[in-house]
Amino acid sequence: MKFIDEYRDPELVRKLLNAVNVLAEKIGRPITLMEICGTHTHAIGRFGIRRLLPGSIRLISGPGCPVCVTSISDVDRALYLAERPNVIFATFGDMLRVPGTGGRSLQQIRAAGADVRILSSPLDGLSIAEENPTREVVFLGIGFETTAPTVASTLRSARRKGLKNFSLFSVHKTVPPAIQALLDDPGLDIDGFICPGHVSVITGGEAYRLIPEAGRAAVITGFEPVDMVDGILLSLQQILEKRYAVAIQYARGVTQGGNLRARQTMAEVFEPGDADWRGLGVIPGSGLFIRKEYESMNALNRFPLPEIHSAEFEGCRCGEILRGAMSPPECRLFRKACTPVNPVGPCMVSSEGTCAAYLRYEA
Ligand code: SF4
Repeated sequence: MKFIDEYRDPELVRKLLNAVNVLAEKIGRPITLMEICGTHTHAIGRFGIRRLLPGSIRLISGPGCPVCVTSISDVDRALYLAERPNVIFATFGDMLRVPGTGGRSLQQIRAAGADVRILSSPLDGLSIAEENPTREVVFLGIGFETTAPTVASTLRSARRKGLKNFSLFSVHKTVPPAIQALLDDPGLDIDGFICPGHVSVITGGEAYRLIPEAGRAAVITGFEPVDMVDGILLSLQQILEKRYAVAIQYARGVTQGGNLRARQTMAEVFEPGDADWRGLGVIPGSGLFIRKEYESMNALNRFPLPEIHSAEFEGCRCGEILRGAMSPPECRLFRKACTPVNPVGPCMVSSEGTCAAYLRYEA
């Protein structure tokens, strides 16, 4: 299949791995690379990339799963909104099983009678609002730069249609401020970043200039085995030569400038603000909040929130996992109390979660 087979060519992977081995030896010290995309985490597990690399190269996972980085207080807020009388609460499927305080989830409250619906596109939320004019439809917008433009354009459509019963609870976040937080973390020592493929289609390579400016390697990589190993090779080249730049390995999807139109749509509806990330805490300018012009469609204005006291589940180490400070098997609940069937934390729930990827491919 064109654009797939050529990036899964075992002979090419072998050649690239040989080159990786040569560079790793020349560098002569341990190297840590972080991938910041849940799809990369799963690709690494699925194709056994970790096992193929020389022992001196360590791959760690970062905050690349939007469901996982949603703070427990935002999960609790979502639960509160979903339980309001007359509300139809809509979101993407992965959010349903994410536990809030006390282990409650959207799935549980749906079983108890709340009207919680899974959408594959936020635009479907508008149809639900049109079909239910006497009810309030609240959409939970979650995701990075990849999904935020579609949600922004949904809000624009809702306004154009004059829909009065559709609102958004935005927990959208942007990736570069999180990378800055990781770079600033004195407890982490990361030599380079495998930058996200999908997010970069929108942001473009320019958005990651902060990485080479901090003296670390940056490569935007695709999702096939050839992409992944090539991305690692390009990172090692930068580290060896100490010449840092944002390299675009995934050139079939990403440009330096990205998708300006999508970013303009996002900027028309959202403005940056400080957002709370699970594991990373509050990161300045990393959240996408609804602008004043769209205030009437902000679910948090329509349903004022009471004070909610949130508490993480004891023993869950998702926070450390999302900072790359720990790997899933180091969590004592991994594969015991916490499994995909009975997940304790979001990293085991989400299809992009690091714990789910480890359990599926590497445990
Ligand atoms: Fe949290 Fe489960 Fe991962 Fe442990 S294994 S960090 S409890 S999601």
